[in-house]
Amino acid sequence: MAGREYPLDRTRNIGIMAHIDAGKTTLTERILYYTGVNYKIGDTHEGTATMDWMEQEQERGITITSAATTCHWTMQKETKAMPGALEHRINIIDTPGHVDFTVEVERSLRVLDGAVGVFCAKGGVEPQSENVWRQADTYNVPRMAFINKMDILGANFFGAVDQIKNRLGKNAIMLQLPIGKEDNFKGIVDLFEMQAYIYNDDKGDNITVTEIPDDMKDDAELYRQELIEKICELDDDLMMMYLEGEEPSDEELKKVLRKGTCECKAIPVCCGTAYRNKGVQKLLDAILMFMPAPTDIPAIDGVDEDGNAVVRHSSDEEPFSALAFKIMADPFVGKLAFFRVYSGTMNAGSYVLNATKGKKERVGRILQMHANKREELDKVYSGDIAAAVGFKFTTTGDTICDEQHPVILESMEFPEPVIELAIEPKTKAGQGKMGEALAKLSEEDPTFRAHTNQETGQTIIAGMGELHLEIIVDRLLREFKVEANVGAPQVAYKETFTQTVEVDSKYAKQSGGRGQYGHCKVRFEPMDANAEEVFRFESTVVGGAIPKEYIPA
Ligand code: GDP
Repeated sequence: MAGREYPLDRTRNIGIMAHIDAGKTTLTERILYYTGVNYKIGDTHEGTATMDWMEQEQERGITITSAATTCHWTMQKETKAMPGALEHRINIIDTPGHVDFTVEVERSLRVLDGAVGVFCAKGGVEPQSENVWRQADTYNVPRMAFINKMDILGANFFGAVDQIKNRLGKNAIMLQLPIGKEDNFKGIVDLFEMQAYIYNDDKGDNITVTEIPDDMKDDAELYRQELIEKICELDDDLMMMYLEGEEPSDEELKKVLRKGTCECKAIPVCCGTAYRNKGVQKLLDAILMFMPAPTDIPAIDGVDEDGNAVVRHSSDEEPFSALAFKIMADPFVGKLAFFRVYSGTMNAGSYVLNATKGKKERVGRILQMHANKREELDKVYSGDIAAAVGFKFTTTGDTICDEQHPVILESMEFPEPVIELAIEPKTKAGQGKMGEALAKLSEEDPTFRAHTNQETGQTIIAGMGELHLEIIVDRLLREFKVEANVGAPQVAYKETFTQTVEVDSKYAKQSGGRGQYGHCKVRFEPMDANAEEVFRFESTVVGGAIPKEYIPA
């Protein structure tokens, strides 16, 4: 059997995370277009984006599932700094942008190696993006940023970059400058190459690489110096060199920035407009250059059957271990289990152990999803992301591994549902079908529950928010043909909590006095009229106290 097609250093497992409406779907879809697997540019206005698998997502314009899509990219320019000017494989793990699905974000963050945060050039860092960034902080996910929508009225590249610095407290490092903005957004200055990329059409096919426009030359020089300084700050040797008046080569600078990004010490920033196809190819180049390969991230911890600590490295030589991160009901093949391989290899047709459940599972087929086709694989290798057909017991968060070398990898935690409602099929005949459907749906989604109320005999469904349950009811109808009546949503777990926490007063005001921390909705109220900086969260908190990790230090 042939070996792996892509060496690990030419693999990128990345997520694209964004506040709803920042342009994540459009960007993902453009990436699939430029990486050559899509034939037609879809537009989420018309609901044809490839990444939105489910019909209702297209209608709602939000992305719920964490589907993984594989594509390929070769850097446009051969750069000596990266021997990987060869073709790379990028696995894109979709992360949802709506607050009801933070748990979906969490499970995708768990299996990816790096992420691109998409920000609207006008909206900048919205409260929701803050949530997701904090989640990414807890998992130490290396990140870069794409400032999208440079073409819209009010677009402000530097404003958005400042917000990444100030609001998210990140070391944002600009790799590019926008040329013009709004209707006059023409392209990008690459601060490494010190060249201008002018996009001559709206398709992104006709690009002129030319001299930096005269009126931008001074700015470009200034920001290039800033870029160099900020990179030198990441490395003592480079800093010494710089202080002695020697300018490091671009090759050295890129290496150091790559390392700094992988260690979560820097956020490289690109810009453009996904919708008008400007800047997407350069973002892809930057993803290859600065986002980690599976070998750049720390090994994963686990425990063996006796409870002893085990470490698994990204290597094909180690025993097989993988984490299931998404279960989907597929109309063609039945149950699909998406998994990320951490170590070793696995063959289609073989048996593996689900160590979490203590059950043996047969790997029927292995599929890899591309934008418009499914590829059947004989074998998967460490670092790969694919889907298995044939697993019976596996649910989200389970570890699957070599039968001879049992291990349970760091598991994922799922919060309790916070909202519930009564549901009843419109016809008597629907009762049995509904029960089966609800069982399937709760298998797919660990934050969704269904039970029967013993006193009233009603079927109660519980989830992470109203939208979450709306989508479940919608899926019942579409996928399982069960028409149902629903009662009013009830808060499943409600507690009025008063917590004193210091927050940035500017933030409290800008957010209109309301915020969302984890699964808690909060209202900000000044504690002391004289103490501008100290705010009391007095709130009806859905889901209990504000999770610790969300409380600003
Ligand atoms: P998501 O919710 O983050 O997935 O955002 P979408 O990709 O669905 O985009 C939200 C809306 O913004 C859609 O109507 C897009 O067509 C539009 N959009 C996305 N990117 C851009 C952009 O760069 N410029 C403009 N003008 N509109 C954009």
